[in-house]
Amino acid sequence: MKKGARDFGKRVAQQQKKQLHSVLPQQSIENIPHHKLEHLLGDTLQAVQIRKDRFFPNAKGLPVLGSDFDAASFYDLVHGTNCENVVGFLTMPIGVIGPLRINDVDYTVPLATTEGALLASANRGARAIRESGGAQARVVRDGMSRSPVLSFESACAGAEFAQWVQSPEMFPKLSEWFSSTTNFGKLKSVKPTVAGRYVFLRFEATTGDAMGMNMVGKGVNAIIENILPIQPQCKLVALSSNMCTDKKPSAMNWVNGRGKSVVCEAVLSKQTVESVLKTTIPELIHLNITKNLIGSALAGSIGGNNAHASNLVTALFLATGQDPAQNIESSNCMLLMEAMDDKIHVSVTMPSIEVGTVGGGTALPVQQCMLEQLGVAGANRESPGANAMKLSQIVAATVLAGELSLNAALSSNHLISAHMDLNRK
Ligand code: ADP
Repeated sequence: MKKGARDFGKRVAQQQKKQLHSVLPQQSIENIPHHKLEHLLGDTLQAVQIRKDRFFPNAKGLPVLGSDFDAASFYDLVHGTNCENVVGFLTMPIGVIGPLRINDVDYTVPLATTEGALLASANRGARAIRESGGAQARVVRDGMSRSPVLSFESACAGAEFAQWVQSPEMFPKLSEWFSSTTNFGKLKSVKPTVAGRYVFLRFEATTGDAMGMNMVGKGVNAIIENILPIQPQCKLVALSSNMCTDKKPSAMNWVNGRGKSVVCEAVLSKQTVESVLKTTIPELIHLNITKNLIGSALAGSIGGNNAHASNLVTALFLATGQDPAQNIESSNCMLLMEAMDDKIHVSVTMPSIEVGTVGGGTALPVQQCMLEQLGVAGANRESPGANAMKLSQIVAATVLAGELSLNAALSSNHLISAHMDLNRK
């Protein structure tokens, strides 16, 4: 059949479906489960409109639909802040999964991706978690790092400087210099590493609701400016030395943490594993040991004891205005699965989730709307830092949902058939 004729055939079929919908009473539209809207209405635009109103009832102006996108204000907003030499904007679909229950609160989690089947799969994981009473998550460590490198005349001079800079008397001074640049950043520690004539200082600070790279960069710069006049033998080579470590794979973040270190867990019943995840507890545990522990060890992986943490991290980062380049360290994740009586205990341990709810892309309209819907937009006035902490827990729980579903599909060999069903029109 020629393309023109095929397109015409498609249009007629769509028209018929729309006519079918026009006779559907409002009541029955409201009862359509949201993942079946496109199929039952035969109208993708209307399906998105209805879904948007269901999940974002207060966001009438949300530029999800293109037609209500205010390009002029958008370009005003990004000029001088987010992007130079602007020629347009990127379009990418955002979907939702959930409710995902975390610490007894239900969240509808937005994910931006072009990978078909990802949301359907993560949604299945969210359902398994919900049926099991929800996930519990805790932030176990918090601190953004920046690591300048200094050079010395000799290795011994560098070693003596390392002793000096980490002495207890120095810390209040370092802290004061750091704080002179910020109301929200608080220096936590400095750790020197000596290599020949070079000293690498790893400064770590809490940064409120900001992801913190700018904040820590400014604070550390002030420290160095104060150190150089009183330690004339040392020279600054660079404010960032790669021991930070920002946007590159490293053992540093895996071992020491960066941003938020989060642990998230759930206990699933045999019934949930079998009915929702379509596998069994022994199969899941066996798969996790073989793939995510042994396989990753054989691959020499650092931080990669998981199936696809970065899929969920990146999709959530894009939807909520995080720095997508930080998906590298933010996706460090160890998935553990253990039998617990007749249930299964599953957890993700993620030592370096770098997120913020102020700064960067979080102020852009769609991204901000997504953060609002999660209840974590902007600065938390009562408890600075609480919004970013909560967002990091949402990241970890979303990863847990994604891990459960994909590992279940792999353990029962459903992966290819699910992909073929969901992303091949
Ligand atoms: P980053 O350090 O993550 O790159 P920015 O420096 O771009 O972030 O944004 C943080 C800005 O937001 C700072 O100017 C800071 O003073 C301001 N701010 C307002 N409220 C808060 C808060 N609760 N936590 C952190 N920063 C805040």
